[in-house]
Amino acid sequence: MQFTDEQQQFANAIRKFCDAECSTLSQRDLLTENGTLANSPALLKKFSKLGWLGVSLPEEFGGGGAGMVDECIFLEETSRGLAPITAYSSSLTAAQTYMRYGTDEQKKTVVANMTAGKLESIALSEPGAGSDLGGVRIKSERVGDHYVINGQKTWTSAAHVAENILVLTREDTSGSKHQGLTLLMVPANAPGLKIHEIRTMEAHTVNDLYFTDVEVPVDAVVGEPRNAWKHLMRGLNVERLIIATMSIGAAQRSLDDAIAFVKEREQFGRTISSFQAIRHRIADLATEIEYCRTFVYHVAERIDAGEEDSLDRQGSMAKLKCTEVAKKAALEAMQMMGGYGYTREYGMEEQVRRSLAPPIYGGTNEIQREIISKSLGL
Ligand SMILES: Cc1cc2nc3c(=O)[nH]c(=O)nc-3n(C[C@H](O)[C@H](O)[C@H](O)COP(=O)(O)OP(=O)(O)OC[C@H]3O[C@@H](n4cnc5c(N)ncnc54)[C@H](O)[C@@H]3O)c2cc1C
Repeated sequence: MQFTDEQQQFANAIRKFCDAECSTLSQRDLLTENGTLANSPALLKKFSKLGWLGVSLPEEFGGGGAGMVDECIFLEETSRGLAPITAYSSSLTAAQTYMRYGTDEQKKTVVANMTAGKLESIALSEPGAGSDLGGVRIKSERVGDHYVINGQKTWTSAAHVAENILVLTREDTSGSKHQGLTLLMVPANAPGLKIHEIRTMEAHTVNDLYFTDVEVPVDAVVGEPRNAWKHLMRGLNVERLIIATMSIGAAQRSLDDAIAFVKEREQFGRTISSFQAIRHRIADLATEIEYCRTFVYHVAERIDAGEEDSLDRQGSMAKLKCTEVAKKAALEAMQMMGGYGYTREYGMEEQVRRSLAPPIYGGTNEIQREIISKSLGL
């Protein structure tokens, strides 16, 4: 697709900003307390001041009022620019559900938080409910004018730094596994809620949540009570697009860094970029990334055109292909950089680490293949 002049300027401005603010390892170390934070509050504040957060959220609630194409530009460029704001994307995923089904009050709160650089979180997964999300067991019980929540969630991104957590609960056990589910907006500091870090190969991102008699008022329900499954199914294409777009930014960064390296590094009396074995791998990666980018913005345009509900196959294809390409790009780039690719200093190990989780979250890539094959009548 062709960006408008305004969109191109937006992309250029973000790129310039990231180059100035977070392109070197020492800048990122400063922003993230030596790599221990996945999100830099200082950087989020700066993005907020620039008015770049929540560009796709509705204007009437304080968002930017633009579309998914503009949001994808922000996601791609900040991912390419290595901006440590990873939870912005999971906040955006949570925000989609609020914008579709929330009350005006919930929408106002979430948009105000997101545009101010604060974070939101979404808790669907449980120890016994990963790919099979219908296995959710955490219990919510309506008692008078409030709900009481008891149980566990796991893998919740950014819960430790979020304002609210959108929690998928089971209110009614009498129907099928996809019935009786209720979404609740729970303040992250609610009494009775304990948040514990899950240690992974990256900075603190994901958490176990333990709910003991956590109380929220009935107006914390998002959408229809006991009908959350239907609500969640509708937001999936945007979530997949968000992950795909960030993966394209990450893949492009790996490629950019690999190109810079092979043009510089000399062996056998010549730059390694002069070896065909290297040049062809670079050409293959560049081709795959360009195809993916074209597809991602095609899906974004169709979402902006109101076709979101008919894009299940395309949403899954975008998530599947872009996350695989980002992983391949990081591993290929690391190999082309030899031993230097393995060091912290050159940044490619960070690229490899960040490329491994996206094929798992947001519905694993095996599940995306299932969705695609079902859409083909298999
Ligand atoms: C970094 C990270 C961040 C996350 N953030 C969040 C978050 O913010 N909120 C949230 O709710 N969750 C989050 N998750 C959870 C994530 O969505 C789940 O990990 C994912 O859905 C897979 O569930 P699982 O880990 O239980 O794996 P399982 O479902 O147990 O799957 C294990 C393996 O079996 C495969 N498999 C399962 N079923 C099938 C099938 N039918 N056909 C073929 N293969 C199958 C899977 O593809 C996978 O390879 C996050 C996960 C990670 C790693």
